[in-house]
Amino acid sequence: MPSSQERREALKAVYEQARACARCSELAATRQTVVFGAGNADADLMFVGEAPGANEDKQGLPFVGQAGKLLDKLLGEIGLERGDVFIANVLRCRPPGNRDPRPEEIDNCQEYLLRTVELIEPRVICTLGNFSTKLLRGDPAGITRVHGQPEVRPIGRRAVRLYPIYHPAAALYTPRMLETLREDFSRLPALLALAAPALPELDEPPELDAPAIPENHPEPVDEAPSEPKAPVSPTEREPAQLLPTAPGASHAPQLGLF
Ligand code: URA
Repeated sequence: MPSSQERREALKAVYEQARACARCSELAATRQTVVFGAGNADADLMFVGEAPGANEDKQGLPFVGQAGKLLDKLLGEIGLERGDVFIANVLRCRPPGNRDPRPEEIDNCQEYLLRTVELIEPRVICTLGNFSTKLLRGDPAGITRVHGQPEVRPIGRRAVRLYPIYHPAAALYTPRMLETLREDFSRLPALLALAAPALPELDEPPELDAPAIPENHPEPVDEAPSEPKAPVSPTEREPAQLLPTAPGASHAPQLGLF
């Protein structure tokens, strides 16, 4: 088992790799920064959004726009703050004009997400919206069908509780969606209080999209609408060690690790 410090060092190395990444030529040519993710490297709870927006691209940090403010508010309502969780995205680079991530971009970027999850070792991963939910569940079922339904999934070498919820950007302008998002959020403390899920004995480490281990997972019932694209912009197991670079500096590359 790597120590906390070893995991932080490994995260920094993955971040440096991502910063130099040019697998998606269009994204590499148009981005201002690589938005690797930010938060507590020892977080039990990780959020995975879709992709950086304009604000994130400028600041190099995830969820710093309106959707991020809503995320902060919802976290506060359950007694958490950013420093308690780790926040990442399916893509580390902004798609031009905030277009949807393309399948090949998701493929190209998924290694960074998987390695981040393996190093942070969260017990619960909240997928925000369709893209992260479909990727981490390895299933095309949309967020409307599966939101609020926790399930245990093997990710990398570990079992994680996946908890799909609506994307905060989608809830910004739809009060009923915000109500649902808030209800789903309110179940997070109980999920976090559960013991770490166990991984069944496997000969090979499972892939990112390995099948689910059923856990109170009712059959989905309907399909998801696409989310509106907003101009989108860690319970601590040990004290903060590395504070984020001051936000606000334009074009500043950031890891934002606590
Ligand atoms: N929306 C996302 O999906 N990710 C961000 O970082 C910001 C907005």
